[in-house]
Amino acid sequence: MTTSSTSPNVDRRYHFIDGDWVAPTGTSIVEVENPATEEMFGQVPLGNAADVDAAVDSANTAFATWSQTSVDERGNYLRAFTDALASRREDIAQLVTMEMGTPIELSRVAQADLPISVLRAISAGLDQIEFVEKIGNSTVVREPAGVVGAITPWNYPVHQAVAKVGAALAAGCTVVLKPSEVTPLSAYLLAEAAIEAGLPAGVFNLVTGDGVGVGQALAAHPRVDVMSFTGSTRGGRAVMTTAAGTIKRVSLELGGKSANVLLPDGDLRKAVERGVEHILENSGQTCTAWTRLVVPRAQQDDVIDVVRAAFEHIVIGDPTDSATTLGPVATKVQRANVEKMIARGTDQAARVAAGNTDTWSGRGHYVNPVVFADVESAMDIAQEEIFGPVLSILPYDDEQDALRIANDSIYGLSGAVWSADEDRASAFARRMRTGMVSVNGGSFNTAAPFGGYKQSGFGREFGRYGIEDFLEIKAMQY
Ligand code: NDP
Repeated sequence: MTTSSTSPNVDRRYHFIDGDWVAPTGTSIVEVENPATEEMFGQVPLGNAADVDAAVDSANTAFATWSQTSVDERGNYLRAFTDALASRREDIAQLVTMEMGTPIELSRVAQADLPISVLRAISAGLDQIEFVEKIGNSTVVREPAGVVGAITPWNYPVHQAVAKVGAALAAGCTVVLKPSEVTPLSAYLLAEAAIEAGLPAGVFNLVTGDGVGVGQALAAHPRVDVMSFTGSTRGGRAVMTTAAGTIKRVSLELGGKSANVLLPDGDLRKAVERGVEHILENSGQTCTAWTRLVVPRAQQDDVIDVVRAAFEHIVIGDPTDSATTLGPVATKVQRANVEKMIARGTDQAARVAAGNTDTWSGRGHYVNPVVFADVESAMDIAQEEIFGPVLSILPYDDEQDALRIANDSIYGLSGAVWSADEDRASAFARRMRTGMVSVNGGSFNTAAPFGGYKQSGFGREFGRYGIEDFLEIKAMQY
């Protein structure tokens, strides 16, 4: 794996359409800010509906032949694409650190290695799908669903893009990707990898710009067949509403407010240490973060002791410094949102158990991490996705109460449960209304289905399940 390059291209003037760098039809640009320094350091075109038209045309033309390729051919292309992206590992890590402030060591793992692992799991998943099935006098075939419009957020920009692009290409679909305007530069590495892998022209297209311009044009486009969206509930709702105009298939991966439940016999230290790691990772800007720590009331003080000890190891600062463990949040707006929620926590009388609620002074969109104790489920900090380094500890009285609290959310994306008795933990996990649960610290699996219940969205990403989201089903009777 190459790790040598350290000066990725940050001045991008073109979209990537039909296998080529294409000048935008408009003249507006998006400037890209480094959230640690507040300096504008890069730019991309602010695309528009005409750019989307050109990209969708190209994806439609390419679909005619790409959809007819064999599973083996697509598997080979996908592996070449993965290798090409893997050779850009250091560029991915550096760029995402510049675009959104992920500390560089975490960036190498979570922003660069993770997407490679996701792509490899998609390749493996392709071999597990039964594309042809016999049911009585019918042959049931699974076929690519068409042109996919992919809209991605800024928190794990390359990871979220490849979860969609990789699965769509594996299914035989063609794609138009619109990355977040906050982190558009790293998406260009996907286009470079597509060129290096020799992907046929038009199979992967990239149009940069904002949600109301490019995103809505994709969702409304009559020749886009599927919309795959990751981001806020508000954004997902807007995409779904627009997509309804042309009865498009939609999959949504939205927010979360996941519960990390310590049962009375669970490993308190591990549960709390992993829980703290979760809310600090990527400055809490992770949709699956366990932002509610649900603990036996009698153990809350012991829990706080472990939280405080874990907080002593936090190093806030320059994300390019490999000693830094907590960088800034992605934008000024994000910082203001998090600060507003922290203020609401103190207003609603939650107790500050670790960290502090002081606003950061000085350069960069930093937020001091904070842990609230004695949080009640009805409080805003227990209900709203904060997307910052903020943890709420919610004490419970008995297991039934713990389950009630865990499920008391409009979201249902992720979660965790800890018990010395694995059967007890599994039984509890099954009653959690959420798409993913870690039992006693079970680790993230890029081959297992990823997605949510309730307002965390619908559809699944990763591996075989991710590909299936981009397949149509046809029954042929004989
Ligand atoms: P958004 O949902 O606004 O952004 C995600 C993507 O959707 C971006 O590419 C954005 O474009 C696009 N988008 C936004 N509005 C529309 C629209 N009306 N039509 C089509 N596309 C649209 O998230 P934010 O960046 O505003 O973050 C706000 C909150 O969302 C966060 O605080 C967090 O709670 C949550 N979030 C959740 C994520 C997750 O992984 N589930 C990821 C990111 C955020 P652009 O921004 O370029 O204009």
